[in-house]
Amino acid sequence: MENIVVAGGGTLGSQIAYQSAYFGKNVTVYDISDAAIAAAKEKINGWDANYRTDMHATDAQIKAAHDHLSFSSDLAEAVKGKELVIEAVPESLSIKESFYKQLSSVADPATIFASNSSTMTTSELSGYTDRPDKFLNLHFANHIWIQNTAEIMVSDKTSHATEQAVEQFAREIGMVPIVMKKEQHGYVLNAMLVPFLSSALALWGNDVAEPQTIDKTWMIATGAPRGPFAIMDEVGIPSLYTILSTSRTGNEPNGFDAGLDKLKALGDQGYAGQESGKGFYNYPNPAYADKDFLK
Ligand code: NAD
Repeated sequence: MENIVVAGGGTLGSQIAYQSAYFGKNVTVYDISDAAIAAAKEKINGWDANYRTDMHATDAQIKAAHDHLSFSSDLAEAVKGKELVIEAVPESLSIKESFYKQLSSVADPATIFASNSSTMTTSELSGYTDRPDKFLNLHFANHIWIQNTAEIMVSDKTSHATEQAVEQFAREIGMVPIVMKKEQHGYVLNAMLVPFLSSALALWGNDVAEPQTIDKTWMIATGAPRGPFAIMDEVGIPSLYTILSTSRTGNEPNGFDAGLDKLKALGDQGYAGQESGKGFYNYPNPAYADKDFLK
């Protein structure tokens, strides 16, 4: 698939568009208004520095990526003749519903649709499209050029050909496809990560141990380069609070609520995590990276 649309040029959409263009795909970014398009362009320009640093991109490669990008606020025009639409519109069921209904009415019958939704399964969205056989989830992680998993979730209506085409596309844009055998909220990664981080928070909430002690334990005992609280800093404390407080299952460990309250208090005091320079650790030189931390 060489000609694609990324719908929604926000945090993730701008990254998906850039990564695809960088790997030579012709990408049209669709967003709702001229103002949203202008914001998407600014976000996309901002990724240049990351690709230079992390991907060792040359000026010529950056220019080629930009040459592969176009923008439109007209959905019918954007999707005409395209093989794939990757949807990265806000995580709201009503926005997704109206987007897929509108998209279905204007897209070519052969176009495959893929959702980047973090919390909605393929079956939950598929009925809003006119083509459940050509619909699946393709879930990227933030900072997709380095955290390059592409989780692929299908419903029982998704065709094998659709799954294979999207898996191949994911490889072609430098991702490692993670093909799931069945639907799962949170895909593979968050289905593990959310309970892991919740357990760490519960230990802290219950005053069993301090965050750095918990991280140290995890790092020494498993050989991992970071512990759960360092991961929370990377996710960002306000975002993590939103994720954990909205994805409750009722099976949270004892102390989880107290841990969540402490997490919120930390965020409210401006300790927002790595991007803000401080969270459970101070950045850019967090204590866990010190050679004496594990003593
Ligand atoms: P965002 O708010 O940063 O961006 C959303 C974009 O969609 C904006 O550019 C907005 O103008 C546009 N938009 C709004 N309504 C629209 C519509 N009707 N049609 C087209 N575009 C519309 O959101 P985000 O964080 O990029 O999240 C987008 C999707 O990606 C969500 O489904 C989210 O679950 C998923 N996701 C986000 C992350 C993350 O770390 N932010 C990670 C993985 C997946």
